[in-house]
Amino acid sequence: MRALCWNGVRDLRVERVPDPEILNPKDAIIKVTMSSVCGSDLHLINGFVPSMRAGDIIGHEFIGEVVETGVGVKNLKKGDRVVVVSVIGCGECQHCKEETWSLCDNSNPNGLLQEKIYQYPTAGIFGYSHLFGGYAGSHAEYIRVPFADHGAFKIPEDISDEKAVFVSDGVPTGYMAAEMAAVKPGDIVAVWGAGGVGQMAIQCAYAMGAERVIAIDRIDYRLAYAARYSGADILNYEDTDVLEELKEATGGRGPDCCIDAVGMEAHTTGIEHIYDKTKQLLRLESDRAAVLRQAIMACRKGGTVSVVGVYAGLVDKIPMGLFMNKGLTIRGGQMHGQRYVPMLFDLIRREIINPEFLLTHPVSLEVGQNAYEMFNNKTNKCMRAVFKP
Ligand code: NAD
Ligand code: ZN
Repeated sequence: MRALCWNGVRDLRVERVPDPEILNPKDAIIKVTMSSVCGSDLHLINGFVPSMRAGDIIGHEFIGEVVETGVGVKNLKKGDRVVVVSVIGCGECQHCKEETWSLCDNSNPNGLLQEKIYQYPTAGIFGYSHLFGGYAGSHAEYIRVPFADHGAFKIPEDISDEKAVFVSDGVPTGYMAAEMAAVKPGDIVAVWGAGGVGQMAIQCAYAMGAERVIAIDRIDYRLAYAARYSGADILNYEDTDVLEELKEATGGRGPDCCIDAVGMEAHTTGIEHIYDKTKQLLRLESDRAAVLRQAIMACRKGGTVSVVGVYAGLVDKIPMGLFMNKGLTIRGGQMHGQRYVPMLFDLIRREIINPEFLLTHPVSLEVGQNAYEMFNNKTNKCMRAVFKP
C-alpha cells in the first residue's frame, strides 16, 4: 500500500510499504477513507519528539471502513464505517476502566522507557513515534487498529465523514480542555491557540455555559474562523498586550478558565536537545512556555488552567509563585477520547458543536509534504488538510 512516511525533520515521502496484518486477536484492519493532519504532527515534523525513525508512517486522526477483524473482536464487522480514537486503550487495565484511556497500562508497555527522562509510559498513539508505542499511523491506505472493540466507534448514519473525522482527536481534545478547565455557566474563558483544538475548546466551553470566550492567536484568518464559526471574541497577541486586554475584559479579575491549546510551538523559540556522554537524550530544554506562563499570569485567583497543548521534556520559566499564591488549579493530559465519542456524536447531531469548517483542504497523500508545509506555515487559510488515501 501507499503511506506518508517521516524521513527526517520536514521530510515526508509517500512510500510503498507492506499492508498491515492482524497481529493480535483484538486487532481490526481499517481501510482509511479520511485522515487529517493535527497540530501534534507538527511536533514530529519539526523534530521536537525524539524516537522517530525513518520510514515511520505518521497520522492519527482518521475514519475508515472495517475490512478484517481478529477472532477476539466482538463489536465490529466487515463494512462498518468507523471513527478511531487516536489514543490506544486496552479497555481492561485500571486506567481504561476508570476512563482515563490515555494512561492505559497495556498499549505502550516499553515505549517511553527508552529515554531516561520518561519514567512512566502512557498509552500508545497511532503514528506518534516510538515513545508512544511505534504504531503505524493513518496517513496510509490501511491501518491496524489494536484493541479495536474499544477504539473504533461506528459512525451514526446521519453524521457525515467531514464531521466524524475530527471526533477521532480534535473534538474530544477540545471537549476535554473545557472539561478540565471546569467551565461553568457564566464563566469567562480564554483560549490560547485558534487551531482545530482551540476552536473545539471554544465551542465546548460555550456548550458548558461560558458567557464569553476569548480566542488568542497571531494568525488573523484563524481568529476570523474563531469569531465566525465558534463565536469567540478575538485577540491578536502580536497587536496587543494580552494580559492587559484580558484584565480589562474581565473587570480586572482575569478569566475564570484559561486553556492552553498551543503547547510547544514551532514559531516561538528554539528547542535544545541535551545528551549525556553516551549520546543518550537526557532532556529537551526550551523557552516554549510562553503560553503556559501567560495563562498562569492571566488567570483569576482560584481559577483553572487547562493544558492540552503538547509539551515534551523540561519547560522552564513557569511562574510558580503566582500559581501557588493565587490558588490556581492546573490540569493537563492527552485526551481520553473513548470516554467522549458517543456524547460528542450527540452534540454534533444537535448542532451544539460543529467541526466541519476545520476541513479546509481535502488532498491526496501524494501532496503530503506540501500539505504539511502549508499547515505548519499557516498559509492558504488552512485549518486542517485531510488526506483521502
Ligand atoms: P495548530 O497548529 O493548528 O494550532 C496551534 C495554534 O496556536 C496556531 O494557530 C498558532 O498560530 C497558535 N499559537 C502559536 N503560538 C501562540 C501563542 N504564543 N499564543 C497564542 N496562540 C499561539 O494545532 P492544533 O491541531 O490546534 O493543536 C494545538 C495543540 O494541541 C498542539 O500542541 C497539539 O499537539 C495539541 N494536541 C493535544 C492533544 C491532546 O490529547 N492533549 C490532542 C491533539 C492536539
Ligand atoms: Zn488500558
